[in-house]
Amino acid sequence: YQEISRPRREDNVAEQISPTNGLIARAGPPTIVEGIEGCIGNTPLFRIKSLSDETGCEILGKAEFLNGAGQSSKDRVALSMIEIAEEQGILTPYSGDTIYEGTSGSTGISLATLARAKGYLAHICLPSDQAIEKSNLLLKLGAIVDRVPPAPIVEQANFVNRARALAKTHTASSGISSASADEQSDLPAANERMTRGRGFFADQFENEANWRAHYEGTGPELYAQCGGRIDAFVAGAGTGGTISGVARFLKPLLPRLTVVLADPQGSGLFNRVVYGVMFDVKEREGTRRRRQVDTIVEGIGINRVTANFEAGKEMIDDAVRVTDAQALAMARWLVEKDGIFVGSSSAVNCIAAVKTARKLGPGHRIVTVLSDSGSRHLSRFWAKAGDVGGAVDTKLEDVMNA
Ligand code: PMP
Repeated sequence: YQEISRPRREDNVAEQISPTNGLIARAGPPTIVEGIEGCIGNTPLFRIKSLSDETGCEILGKAEFLNGAGQSSKDRVALSMIEIAEEQGILTPYSGDTIYEGTSGSTGISLATLARAKGYLAHICLPSDQAIEKSNLLLKLGAIVDRVPPAPIVEQANFVNRARALAKTHTASSGISSASADEQSDLPAANERMTRGRGFFADQFENEANWRAHYEGTGPELYAQCGGRIDAFVAGAGTGGTISGVARFLKPLLPRLTVVLADPQGSGLFNRVVYGVMFDVKEREGTRRRRQVDTIVEGIGINRVTANFEAGKEMIDDAVRVTDAQALAMARWLVEKDGIFVGSSSAVNCIAAVKTARKLGPGHRIVTVLSDSGSRHLSRFWAKAGDVGGAVDTKLEDVMNA
């Protein structure tokens, strides 16, 4: 028998109330919030101990998987898009209005949850190669779900184009009679509901309510949590909303901040940042590739410049390309060393955070985003990552060289 000595809570008071302690930020004033939408934002920021110790930098993760509605960073965006549409009179609660969206999953889950909370219907189109638990969850939330075979953005069959077209048809007809024959046979339940209300295409890629949610929420929270000291911000881009919104808020306050894009294999944004070129969408997506981006990573990586990426692209200083093998190895590492169970995009961000730490050298503070939980990725990404196992002693070099 060996007695294990643990620091007592009171020994660590100073640490507990430090400005980087997310628990303090999250607790906020002792108050009651209005509905589930009140549980969005003010997420903890925590030191990822293993990566910080290994690099000599402070690598901090923003726990976006703790947003309370759809449990990802997309809660902020979904709420922002809905609230702005309500302000503009485009959406009216309990009027039968339906929110349409093309999404890899997270935005749809946030929209479907908030639609329930606020009195709307949700109709979500997502690529059929995304993890099945995402569409199962959407069905549980009462959303209408269209799993669309992967197709390039230049084709009408693409999930985003399909959502836009359905919203348009809905608004134009406001009734079952003018829906196309194709839709009627495909989606009887959808048509049944299309008898009232309007269709609103949320359009997370082009809708600037997206980056504004991060400009008004994630960015200021990070600044406050870090007491204004951040050397680098590292994030992937799916729509570009996170990186643009945070960069636009932080850069004017911290001119020496380095903003780094974490880009999965198959994505074209790395070349846009590093070489200033973008592959022609038609050439890259329209002819050679059937999938939007060729990676097992979900939620980030894209081959076109969206309005939300455009909004902040001049503020991105560097980019790191991350392979699927590295992302899988990092996801396992975070469980093995820290008990952090995250999804694929968070693992990509952590690889890029380590590369950034090594580039900047010890003593720097690097902030990244942990967008969603690994439980959203059990059937695909984590199925490939496998079980972490008991007594393992992985070396960080093996993760970085995977
Ligand atoms: N991680 C996950 C899991 C996501 O779903 C998304 C959004 N598609 C992102 C990261 C990227 O965020 P953004 O769209 O703001 O670039």
